[in-house]
Amino acid sequence: MSQAKELRKQLMMKERKGAASFSDQEMKEAYAFAEGYKKFLDFSRTEREAVIYTKKLAEERGFEEYDPEKTYKPGDRFYVINRGKDIGLVVVGKNGVKNGVKLAIAHIDSPRVDLKPNPLYEDSSMALFKTHYYGGIKKYQWTAIPLGLHGRVVKLDGTCVDIRIGDDEDDECFLITDLLPHLDKEQAKKTMNQAFTGEDLNILIGSVPLEDSEEKELVALNVMKILNERYGIVEDDFLSAELTFCPAFKTRDIGFDRSMIGGYGHDDKCCAYPAVIAALDTELPESTVITYLTDKEEIGSEGNTGMQSDFLRYFIYDLAKAEGVEGYHVLSKSKCLSADVNAAFDPTFSSAYEPKNASFMNEGVVISKYTGHGGKYDTSDASAEFMGEIRAMLEKNSVKWQIGELGKVDIGGGGTIAKYVANMNVDVVDLGVAVLCMHAPFEVISKPDLYMAYKAFYSLFN
Ligand code: MN
Ligand code: MN
Repeated sequence: MSQAKELRKQLMMKERKGAASFSDQEMKEAYAFAEGYKKFLDFSRTEREAVIYTKKLAEERGFEEYDPEKTYKPGDRFYVINRGKDIGLVVVGKNGVKNGVKLAIAHIDSPRVDLKPNPLYEDSSMALFKTHYYGGIKKYQWTAIPLGLHGRVVKLDGTCVDIRIGDDEDDECFLITDLLPHLDKEQAKKTMNQAFTGEDLNILIGSVPLEDSEEKELVALNVMKILNERYGIVEDDFLSAELTFCPAFKTRDIGFDRSMIGGYGHDDKCCAYPAVIAALDTELPESTVITYLTDKEEIGSEGNTGMQSDFLRYFIYDLAKAEGVEGYHVLSKSKCLSADVNAAFDPTFSSAYEPKNASFMNEGVVISKYTGHGGKYDTSDASAEFMGEIRAMLEKNSVKWQIGELGKVDIGGGGTIAKYVANMNVDVVDLGVAVLCMHAPFEVISKPDLYMAYKAFYSLFN
C-alpha cells in the first residue's frame, strides 16, 4: 500500500457506499421491519390515529395505562396519553429516573388540508368544502389526487363522532380540482405560489341535488343529508370539529428491488414507529426510558399537545416525585434523541443541497447537529460533547449513520422539536431518517435507513 493510501485509510472519512455497506442479514431484517411499519403508516394518517395504533401495539406488549397513584418498580411498562394526540411509552429502569431519563421524541402530525370551521358551500351545482392547509405544503402537489377524510366531530350534546373515509378501495374519496393544461396559459405564467393559493384548495364532495323544485343549493343539502344519516351531525357541528383531508394512497414498496417505501406521512412516522418498537423491545434498562410521540410539530409545536406544552415536563416531574427526587434534577441529567427526518439528497434537484453535508438515502440514520435557517437561527445546536457521546454510542452498536444538514446554507431551512427539549435543560440532538419528496402527499424513505433508526433508539435505551 502506498503511503498516501495508507494515510488516507487512517486519517480520512470513508467513502459513501449506499446500500452496499449493509450486510445481507441487515437487509433481511430491514425488509422484515418495514412490513410492520407499512401497517402502522396505513392506519396512522392523523395524530389521533397514530395514538390509537401505538396504544394497541403497547397493550399487546404488556403496557398499561399510567396510574399516578401506583408505585412502579424496575421493568414496569406503562403509557400516558395527552388529549388523544400525544402518547408516551415508559419502561422503568433499574435506577428509575434519578440519573435522568432516556428520551426518544418524534412527531405524529403531518402536513395535510384541514377543514375551515364553516366549510360547506355549493357553486355551479357542485358541493365543496373550504379548507385551510396545515403545515408546509407545495399546494399544487395536493390537487387531483385521492384524499380521505379523517377526524372528530363533537356534537352539541357532547357526544363525539369519529370519521374515517377513504382508506378502503370501496370507500368514496375526495379531491381538490386543478385546471386542465389546455386552458392554463394564464395560470402557467404565474409563480408556483401565485398559481395555487390557499383559497383554491377547495374539496369536491358531491354533485347530486336533493329532489325539490322550491329550494336552492340542493347539492350541498343532499351532502348534509347523507352526513346526517351516517353520523347524526348537522352543519353547525362543523363548528366543533377537527376534520382533515389526507392523501388516500396506500403505503407501497418503491423500486424493482423494493428497497424503498412510498407513503403519506413518513415525516415523522418513520421516526415515530422505530422509536415505539425500540421502547416495546426494551425490558429492563439502566435508566427509565420514554418514547414520546407529539403533535403540532408541523405548525411550530404550539398548543397544549405540541412540544412547547408543559405536558411532558409535568409528567416527568410526576415520575420524579414518585421516586422522591426533584423533577428539574431529572431533566438536567436526561438525554434525548429528537427523532425527526432530514431531506435526502435528490440528484434531480442537486443544486439545493451541499453534498458534503447532505444526507443520502441508504447511508443510515441521519444526525442533524442543528436545524434552523441561515445563520443558525431558531435551532438547538447540539454540543460537541453530546455529539461525541451519541457518535460513540452508534459506532459501538454498529448502527450505520451519517451527518446531515437540510440544504445549502442560505436556501431555506426548517425546525424540529429539539430546541424545546433543550429548553428543558436536556441534552438533545436530532436523529432520524432521510426522506425524498418531504411534505409531498407521497414521500419516500429507504428500508435499511428505517431499520437503522430503530437500532439507534434501541441503543440509546439499552
Ligand atoms: Mn418532521
Ligand atoms: Mn415536517
